[in-house]
Amino acid sequence: MSRVLIIGAGGVGRVVAHKCAQLPKVFSDIWLASRTVEKCEQIAKEIGDNRIKTAQVDADNVPELVALIRQIAPEMVINVALPYQDLTIMDACLETGVDYLDTANYEPLDEAKFEYKWQWAYQDRFKAAGLTALLGSGFDPGVTNVFTAYALKHHFDQIDTVDILDCNGGDHGYAFATNFNPEINIREVTANGRYYENGQWVETKPMEISRIFDFAEVGPRKMFLLYHEEMESLAKHIPGVKRMRFWMTFGDSYLKHLEVFRNIGLDSIEPIKFQGQQIVPLQFLKALLPDPATLGPRTKGKTNIGCIIKGTKAGKPVSRYIYNICDHESCYKETGAQGVSFTTGVPAMIGAKMMLEGKWKKPGVWNMEQFDPDPFMDDLNRYGLPWHDIECDIDVDRLPSE
Ligand code: NDP
Repeated sequence: MSRVLIIGAGGVGRVVAHKCAQLPKVFSDIWLASRTVEKCEQIAKEIGDNRIKTAQVDADNVPELVALIRQIAPEMVINVALPYQDLTIMDACLETGVDYLDTANYEPLDEAKFEYKWQWAYQDRFKAAGLTALLGSGFDPGVTNVFTAYALKHHFDQIDTVDILDCNGGDHGYAFATNFNPEINIREVTANGRYYENGQWVETKPMEISRIFDFAEVGPRKMFLLYHEEMESLAKHIPGVKRMRFWMTFGDSYLKHLEVFRNIGLDSIEPIKFQGQQIVPLQFLKALLPDPATLGPRTKGKTNIGCIIKGTKAGKPVSRYIYNICDHESCYKETGAQGVSFTTGVPAMIGAKMMLEGKWKKPGVWNMEQFDPDPFMDDLNRYGLPWHDIECDIDVDRLPSE
């Protein structure tokens, strides 16, 4: 019997609350807190379970967080607010002696850069306090790390290459909208691309490298090489891995709009003066765009996210493709959220379940691939993200780019 505090009542927070509520034996009491308490109340009302309590909190403010955590006394905090709040929530967990989980690594507000160094720096403090912090328990990062750990455990002696393929084949009918927080999304895709090769990071221009891949149940889509945070921890934790790349699909309309935003500086995070006020162009753009939380009822189609992994077993070459396909409309039916929030929120619930059941619990700060993948993989099948694990002869380098 365990009480959890979920922080963040956006698309992902909604899914986590729904999924935790479905498992009363694991999550006996659920608190949902966010900056806007009405959003928490709305979700609690929809779920209609009086075990869900709500609260208002500014997660940028450590004393406020500490007071709330002391009042609620949860076993752990599930952080599904924004990456900007990771460190303040980790600080509050340390101060109150509570375990921590998130789905995205810390990003400073004034610098479009995500790296694990800030959160890995908490290792000694979490260890000394006897507390567990699980980082990146979403889909990517998250499930993709677990797929890689599972492949290493069951199929390989040595992993040589990992290609992570993220396809959102959903259509929401808008000319331009992002499937999760627009600010985070646009910061991610307009940054330089980067991949890992032979112990080094190779930088590319944004969207410089592309391939066309035929995704099961979605069809052929153009995917672009991006930097993505799970590669940083996998490069550290998968022994001897030679190359790692991350690919994400984008439609023509999305790319056309993004190009215009870039050309006129609407994606900038540098504040400008406008009518006597300082505004950040990207935050202004966010205010104009559809709220990702409203995309749910409009989105049709599927996501397909997975890893193509190559290496050797007993000296022989092995190539596997492990992936999940998720249907936007089914996600909406179950949780009132579209597939991108669902594929993030379900692994966050499962990560929390692993910690509360003591299967993934040891003092310190950990990434997903550092724990036994098997119980997590079982729960993916059980709680809405079934996966396929097949032999695969696809060579991403030989795929066409046009
Ligand atoms: P949303 O923008 O929909 O929701 C974020 C929520 O956090 C909002 O409810 C917002 O509150 C709340 N929030 C923001 N700032 C504060 C604050 N200072 N104090 C309290 N609450 C705050 O984002 P998503 O739900 O789409 O994403 C949530 C997280 O999941 C993000 O970190 C995102 O990067 C991550 N993610 C991870 C993925 C993965 O696969 N690993 C994929 C997709 C997302 P309010 O509405 O009141 O402003």
